[in-house]
Amino acid sequence: MRLSRYFLPLLKETPASAEIASHRFMLRAGMVKQHSAGIYSWLPLGHKVLTKIADIVREEQNRAGAIEMLMPTIQPAELWKESGRYDDYGKEMLRITDRSGRELLYGPTNEEVLTDVFRSFVRSYKDLPQLLYHIQWKFRDEVRPRFGVMRGREFLMKDTYSFDIDMEAAVRSYNKMFVAYLNTFARMGLQAVPMRADTGPIGGDLSHEFIILAETGESEVFCHADLLGMDVPGPDVNFDGDLQPLVDARTALYAATEEMHDADAFAQVPEDKRVSARGIEIGHIFCFGDKYSKPMGAKVMGPDGREHVVQMGSYGIGVSRLVGGIIEASHDENGIIWPLAVTPFGAGILNLRAGDEDTDKVCEDLYARLGAAGIDPLYDDKADRGGVKFSRMDLIGLPFQIVVGPRGLKEGIVEVKTRKTGERQNLSPDEAVNFIIAQYKGILT
Ligand code: ATP
Ligand code: MG
Repeated sequence: MRLSRYFLPLLKETPASAEIASHRFMLRAGMVKQHSAGIYSWLPLGHKVLTKIADIVREEQNRAGAIEMLMPTIQPAELWKESGRYDDYGKEMLRITDRSGRELLYGPTNEEVLTDVFRSFVRSYKDLPQLLYHIQWKFRDEVRPRFGVMRGREFLMKDTYSFDIDMEAAVRSYNKMFVAYLNTFARMGLQAVPMRADTGPIGGDLSHEFIILAETGESEVFCHADLLGMDVPGPDVNFDGDLQPLVDARTALYAATEEMHDADAFAQVPEDKRVSARGIEIGHIFCFGDKYSKPMGAKVMGPDGREHVVQMGSYGIGVSRLVGGIIEASHDENGIIWPLAVTPFGAGILNLRAGDEDTDKVCEDLYARLGAAGIDPLYDDKADRGGVKFSRMDLIGLPFQIVVGPRGLKEGIVEVKTRKTGERQNLSPDEAVNFIIAQYKGILT
């Protein structure tokens, strides 16, 4: 993409309403535009990151054997009356009446809708297990929407639902998602710690929140230090094998959110291993058995010739919250520092003398070659002065910048800056291309 033709409405001043770094940088870098409390447009740069995050989530769900579908945002109230949640959910639910007076709602989650799908079609234990998911917008009329996309009212969530013949099988499904989540977040450069969590209005008693530590996190969390920096199972894990040891290796160590915190148990953790910090919840998994399947009549014929109410779980990831969460975990005073896997563009090319025959030629060549290699470069071909270009590129946070100026070119070199370390290398244009391609090895698919 050529910057001169891109839609990148940067803000010079930081809006006063933005309390945390991710919100400030997302507004300043032209990633989102707020229309109303907690309701945003995703501008091109923000949309690119959101899409990349959703793609990673999707790949890891598919790898774990979950199957993608799409459910509506608007749901009939009747389904929620069947499950008993229509009244429980309270004011967080946006309730709508259509022209003929029917009660609808904008879905805050989809247990009821998918249970309705399931009970309509699945009759036999032979069709189990089922793991189905979608990536869809949700609406929750949060009391305090804040921190930009981190606590929005309309937000994008990946939600998976599992259906099994009994609790033992339901726990196997739960473990698949547990392991898939470890891999998913690691791919985004995040250290997510699974912590015992309260189940809230979803229900059940087996539940973990996946938390990244950050000073600006909304929850207080407590965990064993060894959980930080633990290797993840990785893409070769066999999702049809026994995942319990992988889960146990983590759940054996203390980790809990505020609601589930047990001070006595935490005191058993060696003092130098006790971490108490603030955290951002990026995912939440639940195994709640028959909470929905029973009142809604989701049953299958078992091998014993009798009907069994299915045992369910649900598994959410805050796709849009992750955009903010990743920035909280990776930025400096100058702006965002994108992990390679989710960066909106793979590298920036800065032409320090746009219109000059030599710099133009080298930049065009770099642009074509990086593009052909799948790096998706952003070429700053605008006429602005160097200082403006440098701070703009730092703000939007692309992992690599190739700076092309007339002085360097006289000696056949360009400067490659690595955003994260600030390291600068003088390389020939050929070497610059090869260096950047090499950095993306294993990340570009
Ligand atoms: P929270 O405690 O932060 O309100 P929750 O427990 O209500 O979250 P879930 O119902 O488990 O959230 O939803 C799954 C995921 O969706 C959460 O882990 C979080 O990442 C994301 N999420 C929830 N509420 C919001 C929101 N208002 N804005 C953005 N993302 C959200
Ligand atoms: Mg909530």
